[in-house]
Amino acid sequence: MRLVAQVTPRCQIGCAHCAFEAGPASAGLLAPATLAAWLDRLRAAGCAPTHLGLTGGDAMLAPRRVQALARLARARGLVVRLVTSARFARDGATTARATAALVRAGITGLWVGHDAFHLRAVPEARVVRLLRAGRAAGLAVHLAFTYVHPRAVGLRGKGLPGLDARLEADRSTHARQRELSGLCAELGASHGWSRLVDAGRARALLAALPPALAGEIRADLAAARGQGGEGAMLGLRWDGRPLDEPV
Ligand code: SF4
Repeated sequence: MRLVAQVTPRCQIGCAHCAFEAGPASAGLLAPATLAAWLDRLRAAGCAPTHLGLTGGDAMLAPRRVQALARLARARGLVVRLVTSARFARDGATTARATAALVRAGITGLWVGHDAFHLRAVPEARVVRLLRAGRAAGLAVHLAFTYVHPRAVGLRGKGLPGLDARLEADRSTHARQRELSGLCAELGASHGWSRLVDAGRARALLAALPPALAGEIRADLAAARGQGGEGAMLGLRWDGRPLDEPV
């Protein structure tokens, strides 16, 4: 069983697609005692987790708390991974220090979100820096790219409010995934994609679309839930043309 724990709802970015509605105005920190109590309750209920994902908000706004939670979970035998935007990887020395501390705390993997939304606030150089540092430190690293709705590419240019911008975001995300796939292969990291999660702030994105299009996207999201949300999108064609093709 896999458990995800939110270290903090605070995040300086506030992406439009954030499922947790994280943002700069949110506050709070998960206490180790709270996590311990939840692990005990789950164990008592007969569903002890084997994996823990520490996420945010931006969990790395509180690196010592991340380390404390990781140590606690490791002491109970859980595999621990960190979900991050890589925002903290602002230079080589900082990244190496932070990565080494994560390893010492028992974290064995990083899940790095990178897409058109994150790119507005996190330069790609930080993602690449963390990818390299994480692999050098022996961590498993996965780059996760979130798309809005690639199937709607055939509706581009038809005047639907907001749609062209969303498709442009997908095209940019796809270009980044294609670009970084070579580096992932070289370093032994993985990458995958998921569709926009219909939760949190994402509901507002969908609500702004015409009802017919929003309905199509909701149906697509429902179908995507049954597909596991991962796999190689590269090379797929939507409405007869590659997603990364100039329009
Ligand atoms: S970086 Fe992550 S936690 Fe922060 S707003 Fe974006 S999706 Fe949410």
